[in-house]
Amino acid sequence: MLCQANTELRRNLGKNVVVIGLAWGDEGKGKIVDLLAEQTTAVVRFQGGHNAGHTLVADNVKEVLHLIPSGILHENVQCFIGHGVVVSPAALLGEIQQLERHGINARARLSVSQGCPVLLPSHAALDQARESKAAVDRKIGTTGRGIGPAYEDKSARRSVRIGDLYRWDEASGAIRETLDYHNFLLEHYYQVEPVDVESVLADVQRFSKEIKPLVKDTTTELHKLREEGANILFEGAQGAMLDIDLGTFPFVTSSNTSAAGACIGTGFGPRHIDHVVGVTKAYATRVGEGPFPTELDDDAGKALAERGSEIGATTGRPRRCGWLDAVALKHAVAMNSVTSLCLTKLDVLDEFDQIRICSEYQYENGLAFRGDFSDGGLRGVKPSYIDLEGWQDSTEDCAHSEDLPAKAVEFLHQIEDLVHVPVNIVSTGQQRSATIFRDNTLFQ
Ligand code: IMP
Repeated sequence: MLCQANTELRRNLGKNVVVIGLAWGDEGKGKIVDLLAEQTTAVVRFQGGHNAGHTLVADNVKEVLHLIPSGILHENVQCFIGHGVVVSPAALLGEIQQLERHGINARARLSVSQGCPVLLPSHAALDQARESKAAVDRKIGTTGRGIGPAYEDKSARRSVRIGDLYRWDEASGAIRETLDYHNFLLEHYYQVEPVDVESVLADVQRFSKEIKPLVKDTTTELHKLREEGANILFEGAQGAMLDIDLGTFPFVTSSNTSAAGACIGTGFGPRHIDHVVGVTKAYATRVGEGPFPTELDDDAGKALAERGSEIGATTGRPRRCGWLDAVALKHAVAMNSVTSLCLTKLDVLDEFDQIRICSEYQYENGLAFRGDFSDGGLRGVKPSYIDLEGWQDSTEDCAHSEDLPAKAVEFLHQIEDLVHVPVNIVSTGQQRSATIFRDNTLFQ
């Protein structure tokens, strides 16, 4: 499972790359980050928390990571969790132990920013209570992990940060105060069970002792690496259309999932980023509620779900499926200065006789769509499609451009024409080897 990294190649690279999803998450970023990690010195998470689910397959063993960067499977790669990530000490420790059971010594190569806000069990309780009490059309369909309430506490300047835990007298007082506030909401507003303050405090103190050796000033460490000429990979979680500011608000997550979040969430400056790789599936999926203009509720949608095994990695929920939405994709490309596209799950389209790409939206009342991607802005939009003939040939596990059927190449060209960014990487299966690098853009 653990990979020997190619150190010579890593030294030759010297580029800092952000990898983000361009839709509503689950684009297959984990596999791509794992692959590119082989060429990098460090991989950094910058936003979100353990709501993410990054599935990696190596040597036919499947590993699902939620908090720890996908580079952890490479033995020479350092991994960082930047201060933009909300960290549940329990979830972090659980994941470290899961990796240890698989022979990966995560503690040796993982650093966690002292600035990460601590995600408490009461955040998850609030998240779940809020979702279960919300009216049907107000439910977000969150992962129930407490991400929203943890970021609310950060914005309210109430969070305790990981580094604070090592001044326990002060931190325990602040956590107690926060738990009292959360419990008041749980009991009196949501009318559900409060959390047990003493046991939460005891757990946080115990977990914090275990992770103490990992807690660092990651911003300084990253800049040190940069000055030494290392190349650093920033691993996005969720996708650009779930960004709190730029996504399909209010059906979004609570962090900045976009490329700019890599700077905010780590302290790395925008001018030190050389490439932004945007990952998109060959079709579209969404888990949770919210607008999805190209969603299919017919046999084609069922076939995409089945062939693509579209089940959420964190919650096990079935994903909604639809055709590739080049309108949203173009928006995401622009918002994130995407320089390279990576298209995943091409093989899922192998058996379709017709493949559609949404090229425009129009409102039902005939008005033109002007680019408001919020829930309100997308209400009543109708997608128009470009129809392509399917290739009806296997691309599964294809690793070379020249082996792709001509009609599959046409599909890639059509996407490039619509969004004006090259598709540099194509993924055709779960294994690392099932990947086509169409050129050397990222590796000069
Ligand atoms: P939260 O991040 O748990 O608050 O959930 C907010 C929205 O983001 C919901 O629609 C979730 O389904 C979605 N979401 C959060 N994390 C992921 C992910 O890793 N993949 C796909 N969707 C996600």
